[in-house]
Amino acid sequence: MTLTSPSAADLGGRTALVTGAAGGIGRACALRLAAAGAKVRAVDRDAEGLAALYDEAAGAGRPGTVETLVLDLTDLDAAEQAAAGTDILVNNAGLQLVRPIEDFPPEVFSTVLRVMLEAPFRLIRGALPHMYGQGWGRIVNVSSVHGLRASPYKSAYVSAKHGLEGLSKTAALEGARHGVTSNCLCPGYVRTPLVERQIADQAAAHGIGPERVVTEILLADSAVKRLVEPEEIAELAVYLCTEQASFITGASLTMDGGWTAH
Ligand code: NAD
Repeated sequence: MTLTSPSAADLGGRTALVTGAAGGIGRACALRLAAAGAKVRAVDRDAEGLAALYDEAAGAGRPGTVETLVLDLTDLDAAEQAAAGTDILVNNAGLQLVRPIEDFPPEVFSTVLRVMLEAPFRLIRGALPHMYGQGWGRIVNVSSVHGLRASPYKSAYVSAKHGLEGLSKTAALEGARHGVTSNCLCPGYVRTPLVERQIADQAAAHGIGPERVVTEILLADSAVKRLVEPEEIAELAVYLCTEQASFITGASLTMDGGWTAH
């Protein structure tokens, strides 16, 4: 699916930090924010992916609108520092391991929680002084249906996303009187490298082929029988950064093809 006419959000003069910007949803958010006029700081541990993003922004006639920072978000102090001075923060970086609890490596559980919950906390902490100082800020947390619902074999991911939902709502309550909104986006399955890897993992775990994983497992609860595209998530993220969205805060906006309508 191609989005031919993105909405006319104007974020000229705003700065934005996007984590996990080298691929998938983060990359789409970085490019969409840049297209709306924001000056984007793209953060990821994947230097090659960031370089490709930089080139793509320049090729789209937006040279200088995307700057890149290679950073592993397990370095929490560096994450907090990187967020200083940004007007918009998109907490997006994530990782997944599909494994039953009894086989789930404890050190991977810790890393998932660190990257997907502790780092967002530290990034928000780093961003708030500037946002509060100017009386305006936007925090967009890329959560998931798994912030609202559990699935077997995803203990760390589901725990981190449920935690992120709580963090986002707390930031919304604290930030409201400073003009800062905080929201979660809760997509169903998005067509990204993370999902391609999961399809392979689930196929191995259930002993079935990849096509059956998509139709019978991933989309079993989705009324709309397709994967959602990263650009569709980016469009909603940008809308949340507009003036028109200033009353939307503390929300968890699903984009799940009806999954959570069940
Ligand atoms: P992706 O794997 O394509 O991108 C994730 C990015 O995060 C990668 O570029 C990766 O390098 C980066 N990253 C991972 N660990 C990092 C670390 N320690 N430090 C810095 N960067 C790190 O995944 P995606 O599908 O685009 O996922 C982005 C976000 O969307 C995640 O939070 C994910 O949970 C969420 N989400 C994805 C889906 C989906 O179906 N793809 C659905 C719901 C929510």
